[in-house]
Amino acid sequence: MLRAWQNCQIYLSPLYYQVKIYKVPSFYLNDIIFLSKVINAQKMIRQFVVFLLLLPIIAEGQTIFENFFSDYSMRFDFLLGGNSNEVMVYPGQIKKEPHWAGSHTNLTDTFNYGTYRFRIFNLSSGALLFSKGFCTLFQEWQTTAEAKNINKTFYQAAVFPYPKNKVRLEIDARQWKGNFKTIYKTEIDPDNYFIISEKPFPYETATILENGKPEKKVDLVLLSEGYTETEKDKFLNDASRITGYLFDEEPFKSNKMNFNIRAVFAPSEETGTDVPGEKIYNNTLLNSTFYTFDIPRYLTTSDMKTIYDIAACVPYDHIYVLVNTERYGGGGFYNFLSVCSSDHQLTREVFVHEFGHGFAGLGDEYYTSEVAYENFYNIKEEPWEPNLTTLVNFNKKWKSMVSENTPVPTPRTEGFSNTVGVFEGGGYMTEGIYSPYMDCRMKSNNAKNFCPVCSGVIQKIIDLHCDN
Ligand SMILES: [Zn+2]
Repeated sequence: MLRAWQNCQIYLSPLYYQVKIYKVPSFYLNDIIFLSKVINAQKMIRQFVVFLLLLPIIAEGQTIFENFFSDYSMRFDFLLGGNSNEVMVYPGQIKKEPHWAGSHTNLTDTFNYGTYRFRIFNLSSGALLFSKGFCTLFQEWQTTAEAKNINKTFYQAAVFPYPKNKVRLEIDARQWKGNFKTIYKTEIDPDNYFIISEKPFPYETATILENGKPEKKVDLVLLSEGYTETEKDKFLNDASRITGYLFDEEPFKSNKMNFNIRAVFAPSEETGTDVPGEKIYNNTLLNSTFYTFDIPRYLTTSDMKTIYDIAACVPYDHIYVLVNTERYGGGGFYNFLSVCSSDHQLTREVFVHEFGHGFAGLGDEYYTSEVAYENFYNIKEEPWEPNLTTLVNFNKKWKSMVSENTPVPTPRTEGFSNTVGVFEGGGYMTEGIYSPYMDCRMKSNNAKNFCPVCSGVIQKIIDLHCDN
């Protein structure tokens, strides 16, 4: 949908300038005031024409939603299983959930981000109705040494608006060369009585920020993890404080009106989380843990079934798990999950960084790390992450934002510290991968903000959610 909008703009521009060149000088050459009024009028006319052209696109999206979906969610649970070379999908339960928070007009994914994607087709016509890219913990695990020797499974779900008629679900995995390959297909009858339609858990919910209808806003839900029954007030204060950090940084700061933020308090038996490397284990509801893939600061959870069940209490686009601990850590996965600790002195920076992964599909721009990945990027292909490039197809990335005077690759020297360029290093690799800025929220906790490239991507994703 966004691509269609961009095409409209590109197509219209030459026509607009033709009108301006031929008509304005011949009539009003000497009247500067009048000329400015004409130009303003032309701008308004242009905006109106763009709006008129966009109307059918918006109407088409709305028609698809009204004709094919209702305002609930369908949740298709599955396991991704395999090893470094193989992946299998094992289907699980299907649930009907009470809210759909996503757009009613932007139903198909035009960004092409993520290591996986699922697509929903109308079974009778074959038409694509909905699609979404996403990332998984499984795909990261596949690049660890352990995955060469054993098989493992990871819990996933595809969540989409509840279909009115029979649909076909396809799950696609991104291949080493960058293309998607369909690894699973199934037909779903929305009237099947095995689809579980039960009330969500009666956990207490709170609204931190409310700006409008879920389908017109970014809906973020924070889930409590490692907060006991007596720590409800701490959780609500933490959730409010930490989401406030988001709006201290651009582009979130100027988009606060585009967000709804809700919190669900689901108490744990014990405070904190697991730290296996120190033999610390706490009984917590979402089973979060440090030492994911043996990296001390990598804080994640694989208990997605519980997480989805609790998130269903409110409308949501993105789930953020807030872990009640003073330790440093977090994790973020595009269109899947973000996790962050509550009380470290760098929680502000980590919370926003992980949301960059989870919400906008941004890649890590750092390249010195203990991350235990092997062959994470294929430097012979262009990575899908919008803020990383191998220069294989740089036109698809931020080339238009690099000035002609900026050398490529751009030296990491003081003179280029505020310049959009092509700096070697990024995506955990020192060579072959390039990032757009000397420092960025996706590179370090010292950065003041997201770089201009990452900011632009975040803005596009916000616009997609809000139909802007
Ligand atoms: Zn960046």
